[in-house]
Amino acid sequence: MKDKHPKGIAILFFTEMWERFSYYGMRALLIFYLIKHLKFSESLAGNIYGAYTGLVYFTPLIGGYLADNYLGYKKSILLGGILMCLGHLSLALDSETSFFLGLALLILGNGFFKPNISTLLGFLYEDKKELKDSGYTLFYMGINIGGTFGPLLCGYIGETYSWHLGFGLAGIGMSLGLIVFWFGQSHLAYKEKINIQVEKSFLNPEEKNKISAIAILSIFTMFFWFAFEQAGSSMNLFTEKYIDRNIYIFGFQKEIPASIFQSLNGIMILLFAPVFAFVWNYLNQKKINIYTAIQFFFAFFFLGIGFLILVLGSNQIGSGKLNIFYIVLPFLFHTFGELCISPVGLSTVSKLAPIRFAGLLMGFWFLSNAISHYISGYVSGQMSQFQNLADFFMIFVYTSLVAGIILLLLSKKIYNLMRER
Ligand code: GLN
Repeated sequence: MKDKHPKGIAILFFTEMWERFSYYGMRALLIFYLIKHLKFSESLAGNIYGAYTGLVYFTPLIGGYLADNYLGYKKSILLGGILMCLGHLSLALDSETSFFLGLALLILGNGFFKPNISTLLGFLYEDKKELKDSGYTLFYMGINIGGTFGPLLCGYIGETYSWHLGFGLAGIGMSLGLIVFWFGQSHLAYKEKINIQVEKSFLNPEEKNKISAIAILSIFTMFFWFAFEQAGSSMNLFTEKYIDRNIYIFGFQKEIPASIFQSLNGIMILLFAPVFAFVWNYLNQKKINIYTAIQFFFAFFFLGIGFLILVLGSNQIGSGKLNIFYIVLPFLFHTFGELCISPVGLSTVSKLAPIRFAGLLMGFWFLSNAISHYISGYVSGQMSQFQNLADFFMIFVYTSLVAGIILLLLSKKIYNLMRER
C-alpha cells in the first residue's frame, strides 16, 4: 500500500495534460499567426512572442502568492483555467483587439494555474514523501502528452484550415482540462495548513536555509533552460539547413519538415520518463540518497553532450548534408537532461518550501524560465554572426560544463542547506 501513488495524481495528470495541450498548441501557431495573418514584421512578431512566453512565466509569482494567502490552491487553479478558456476563446475571434485581449487573459490565467497545480501535486504526497520524485516525473509525462499532441493537432488544423479553428481547438483542450479538474476535485483532499504558530513573515533558520537552496537551484535551472531552449530557435534552423531530412519508405523519398523534429522532445520524454521515475524510486527504496545537486549535475552533463554532438556536426557542414542522428541524438541527451532537472526541481521546491510560501516559491521557480527564455532567444538571434557554427554551439557546451562543475563543488553545501534538522 505504501508504494501506491495517491488517487488525485490522475486528476492533476489529466488536467495538466489538457492545459499543456492548449498552451503548446496555441504557442505552435503564435509566431506564424503574427507574421502571416496579422502581417507583423518578423522582428515585431519575435518581440511579441518573446514578451508572451516571458510574461506567461512571470505571473506565476503573483498567482502563487495570492493562492498562499487568499485564494487557496484549488480555487486559484479553477480561476486560472477559466481565464485561460476565455483567453483561447478570444483568440478564436478574428480581430486584433480580441487577439491581444486573449494573450493577456492567457498570461493572467497561467499565473493562477501553473504554479498552483504544481504545488497541489506535492501536497498529495505529504504522507508518501518517498514517492514524490517519481510522482512529479509521472506528472511530467502528462505535461508532455499535451505538449506533443497540442502542436501536432492545433498546429495542423490552424495552418491548414483556419488559424481561429486552431486556437479554438486549444480552447477546447483547456475546457476539457477544467472539466476534469472540476469533477475530480473531491480526490484532491490535502492537509490544510495546520495552525501556523509563527508569524507569517518570520522565517526560522532552517526555513531560511531551505529557501536559499531553492534560490541557488533556480539560478542553475536558468542556465539549463537558457541552453535547452535553443531547441525551438537555433537548433530548429540548424535542422532546416544542414540535416539530411530525406527518408525512404517503400522506395518513395520523402523530406520531413524541420518543425516536426520539435515533437521529438515530447515523445522522448514519454518514452523515458518511466525509466527515470523507476530509477528515482529504486534509489529511494535502496535508501541511496542521491543529492539533488548531483541530479542537477547530470542534467548539465547530458545537456553538454547534446551540444557537443552539435559541435561535431557543425564541423562537418562543408561536406554535404548531415546524418539525421546529428539532431536526433542532441534531442535525446537534452531530454535526459530535462528529466534530471525539471520534474526533480518541482519535487524539490515542493519538499523544501515552507508550506505558507509554497505557491510563491513555486512561482519563483517558474520565474527562472521567464528570464532564461528571454536571454536564450536573444542569444539564438546572434547565431548568424558566427562564421563557424561550431563556435556558436560551443557556448552551450561551456556554460553546461561550468554549471556542472560548480554544482559538483557546491553539492555538499546545497545538501546541508536542504537538510531536515
Ligand atoms: N515543458 C515543461 C512544462 O511545460 C517545462 C517548461 C519549463 O519549465 N520551461 O511545464
